[in-house]
Amino acid sequence: MIIKNKTLDYATWWNKIIQEGDIVDIRYDVKGFFVWKPYGFSIMKNIKSNWEILFKKNNIKEVYFPLFVPVEYAAKNKSWWDSFKEQAFYVLGYYDKEKRIFIRPTGEPAMYPVFSKWIRSHRDLPLRIYQTVMSYRNETKSTKSLVRDVEIGPWYEIHTCHSSAKEAEEEINLAIKMNEHLFNLSAIAYLKVRKPKADCFPGSVGAVEFYTLMNDGVIENGSCNNLGQAYAKAFNITYTYQDQKKDFVWQTCTGNGERFLSAILANHSDEKGIVIPPKVAPIKAQIIYIKLKEEIEITTGLSEEHLEYVNVNDSGELGEVRFNSEKRGIPARIEIGPKELDEKICQVVWRDGIKNKVSLKDLKKEIEIGLERLQKKLQEENHKELNSRIKECDTFEEAKKASIALIGWCGGEECGGWIKNKTSKEIIGMTLKPSTKKCIHCGEKGEATYIAKSY
Ligand SMILES: [Zn+2]
Repeated sequence: MIIKNKTLDYATWWNKIIQEGDIVDIRYDVKGFFVWKPYGFSIMKNIKSNWEILFKKNNIKEVYFPLFVPVEYAAKNKSWWDSFKEQAFYVLGYYDKEKRIFIRPTGEPAMYPVFSKWIRSHRDLPLRIYQTVMSYRNETKSTKSLVRDVEIGPWYEIHTCHSSAKEAEEEINLAIKMNEHLFNLSAIAYLKVRKPKADCFPGSVGAVEFYTLMNDGVIENGSCNNLGQAYAKAFNITYTYQDQKKDFVWQTCTGNGERFLSAILANHSDEKGIVIPPKVAPIKAQIIYIKLKEEIEITTGLSEEHLEYVNVNDSGELGEVRFNSEKRGIPARIEIGPKELDEKICQVVWRDGIKNKVSLKDLKKEIEIGLERLQKKLQEENHKELNSRIKECDTFEEAKKASIALIGWCGGEECGGWIKNKTSKEIIGMTLKPSTKKCIHCGEKGEATYIAKSY
């Protein structure tokens, strides 16, 4: 969908919908931080409980690792530490002045030295755990709430260790399936790509990255990393198998979180505000009693926690209630006044503008069908939008004009630089199923590769 108020630039519009949609309060005086408001946090909690249910079903156990990480842990993997140390926050005032401590930018450095203590033999494998946390990175570029923050999250990170490369590969396939399931509940279309080697964790086998639409480009939305044995070697995570033979474990890690919500806000909003897909909406319907002397009982089939009740006494008040309901993206409004009550009907107004007069005895069915219809419609529209954005291009002029261009790239650094320069787009990754396509710059054999503006 992505309909925005044409008079506002994207950054201003974004801040306006998240503030007025009651998601967060961005008026906090530390750059890169914001306050979660009750309504926004309850949407985030619904998304979070979806992944908790999913991970439980797949037997991935929840843990919690400390926020403070000793630098000596991180330094065990030099290439990782080199890429993160500039973004790390250091702790002052820790009692042991000799010990340098920094704050978790991501889970690996806290977890992996502990994994090397937990894993001894093949009987300790596979190890499959996750934690849901906030992480902290010093963001030098401009920040944007829910897209690029200093306090990042809530997000989950799954870390697994295995006794074979094949098992690690299967775990990656499961991680992809789980991310897809969570996107379906949020009615979001996604693009899956293979990350270029240079953008993967150093020494890893590879990564599959999800992208979702944002404005005229895309945002990264969940990566599934096959780490191979590189991290196990750096952190000395070994196991013994038959006859006391020793080997390093095979690892995977995958993470996502807050950006499910960012994708909902970026993709399902319109000029009236945000639209929350029914499956993650904390309030699924609002019941508005208009000038009624007494409240009446109506059957919606929804549990009380998914309903919000409002009494209004004049048309000014009613206008304001409707306006607020639309801004917050509540899927349905059920309006009932004295006239409707006499006729035993009500008016149901859906967030996409569809209105129906419904008899009170049919309301339960109407709500059930309507919620399903809206969920499906949001998802289908977003799929259509994503597909319409992808264009196969043979020249850089075409690629420059496209929102997401599918071009050929030989994988060379020099050609990569030329492509970025000529098209003002980032290389986001190759098609999941490898497909050959002549490099758009050097003309040599290349791979079909997506490029887009990345937020
Ligand atoms: Zn090339």
